[in-house]
Amino acid sequence: MKASQFLITTLKEAPADAEVVSHRLMTRAGMIRKLGAGIYNYMPMGLRVIRKVERIVREEMNRAGAVELTMPVVQPAEYWQESGRFEKMGPELLRIKDRHDRDFIVQPTSEEVVTDIARQELRSYKQLPKNLYQIQTKFRDERRPRFGLMRGREFIMKDAYSFDRDEASAKGSYQVMAQAYRRIFDRFGLKYRAVAADSGAIGGDLSEEFQVIAATGEDAIVYCPTSDYAANMEKAEAMAPQGPRPAPANPLTRTPTPGKATCADVAQLLGVPLATTVKSLVLATDELDEAGLVKSSKVWLLLLRGDHDMNEVKVGKVPGLDEGWRFATPAEIESHFGCRPGYLGPIGLKQAVELVVDREVAVMADWICGGNEVDVHLTGVNWVRDLPEPTRVADIRNIVEGDASPDGKGVLAIERGIEIGHVFYLGTKYSRSMNASFLDEDGKPKPFEMGCYGIGITRLPAAAIEQNHDERGIVWPDAIAPFTVVVCPIGMDRSPEVKAAAENLYSELLEQGVDVMLDDRGERPGAMFADWELIGVPHRITLGDRGVKAGQAEYQHRRDSAATAVPLAEVAAYVK
Ligand code: ATP
Ligand code: MG
Ligand code: MG
Ligand code: MG
Repeated sequence: MKASQFLITTLKEAPADAEVVSHRLMTRAGMIRKLGAGIYNYMPMGLRVIRKVERIVREEMNRAGAVELTMPVVQPAEYWQESGRFEKMGPELLRIKDRHDRDFIVQPTSEEVVTDIARQELRSYKQLPKNLYQIQTKFRDERRPRFGLMRGREFIMKDAYSFDRDEASAKGSYQVMAQAYRRIFDRFGLKYRAVAADSGAIGGDLSEEFQVIAATGEDAIVYCPTSDYAANMEKAEAMAPQGPRPAPANPLTRTPTPGKATCADVAQLLGVPLATTVKSLVLATDELDEAGLVKSSKVWLLLLRGDHDMNEVKVGKVPGLDEGWRFATPAEIESHFGCRPGYLGPIGLKQAVELVVDREVAVMADWICGGNEVDVHLTGVNWVRDLPEPTRVADIRNIVEGDASPDGKGVLAIERGIEIGHVFYLGTKYSRSMNASFLDEDGKPKPFEMGCYGIGITRLPAAAIEQNHDERGIVWPDAIAPFTVVVCPIGMDRSPEVKAAAENLYSELLEQGVDVMLDDRGERPGAMFADWELIGVPHRITLGDRGVKAGQAEYQHRRDSAATAVPLAEVAAYVK
């Protein structure tokens, strides 16, 4: 590819709403452009990355015996009514109507449609096991689309579905996928961890998430450095011994036992009509530094409206709100608490509320705050300005670093991750509700035993950038770089030798099957290098007039601090 023909649209500045480095860099590198909240154009530079991710995933899925198909993005609602998800799923499911007023959905995954395919096409045990997958556009009306491709509303997912005769065989298919996922994520060169996840109502332990380790990750993961134990926080908390943790050393003075109030009470207290649906006033804890220690003495108040959507945090009329206190933005809450500001989330504001409710000191006024139960609020809650000594954020969880690992083989550590893949044993959940069965050897119909397996194709590049970047831009692993090599001729228009050498090298690399970009835009070296460092191409070959005349080129890896002189005749071999 030649730069003059390609669409290169780098930016000096990142958009103001880009909170994490991958979102900033993907936008600045011209890989994505926002069209609407959580909806992006995959620009040519970004699409190349996505296609490479897809290729690796496809290769490994095929190697594992899965078969590719494509299911519609827009699906008739009747299948979703059969499974019950049309009614059960919340607003994340995008429901639409056609001109005849018939209901449709935009697929967030495709269990229903693939189960319908199975019940029509897989009639005998002889056709099993089967694993069907697609790499396809998904839509989820996420409550908080953010971080660019990391949490889009429209995104690309690889979703696979296995069909087996019985539970044992289904668990075998699950293990095959879990292995394939390891191969896939190894090939991307990412630091990741497979963690046990909650398999919800289905039961059993067969659900694992693949988490790319990154400080900006939305998930907390708990693991034991000296054993194989690893789980997401939700699962770890579900498995942890119940009951309150013992109070930390130097506990803060307790206030009187909080009472309870209804929404109506809160509305009255705030002086707003109940119709404005103020549902809760939440008292949140303090600012934390990187080590999770309380840094300042601010305490925030939040008003949650309606369904507790954090995007609608509004300043309300709070009696007694004095100077020096203010309302936190959702982003602040998230970055300071290091967790999603979920009203009922396991490490969300619930604990934040309890932290203050249970352990506050300097009493200023009797407040009402969220009671972590719909329509229940706590009264008599007071807020604090100064906490007597640093409090670890881990203290507000049930599980803290240093707790004994459940396997008894060490102590627990906590880190943050980005969920890039999820493998899940489904059992007969869908096959039973949708009446999908096959004839077994004994001639009797049996429901399929199923599993489902997802990979966030468009989330993956974002996760890769969170792990691989520096102050100049992205540093792609070779496997998913938009181009593997960039040839940067300097003064191509002035030096026929440079032009010829660049064209020759470009053709030679192309012939060798190297994914090469020739920057023939005639940019000055500084601007040209800045672009390719921002875009993150791993290998760069620079050709200058003096060097070329002396038979030399300059090679620099994106991670190198300086270029190395390499004989022009050998440089093609150098980057392979
Ligand atoms: P999350 O916990 O991040 O919301 P999820 O558990 O809802 O993800 P799954 O239903 O397990 O997601 O989907 C499989 C994979 O699809 C996830 O592991 C993730 O990599 C990807 N994915 C899910 N939601 C999004 C999204 N909004 N944007 C991009 N990728 C996504
Ligand atoms: Mg989700
Ligand atoms: Mg998840
Ligand atoms: Mg998941």
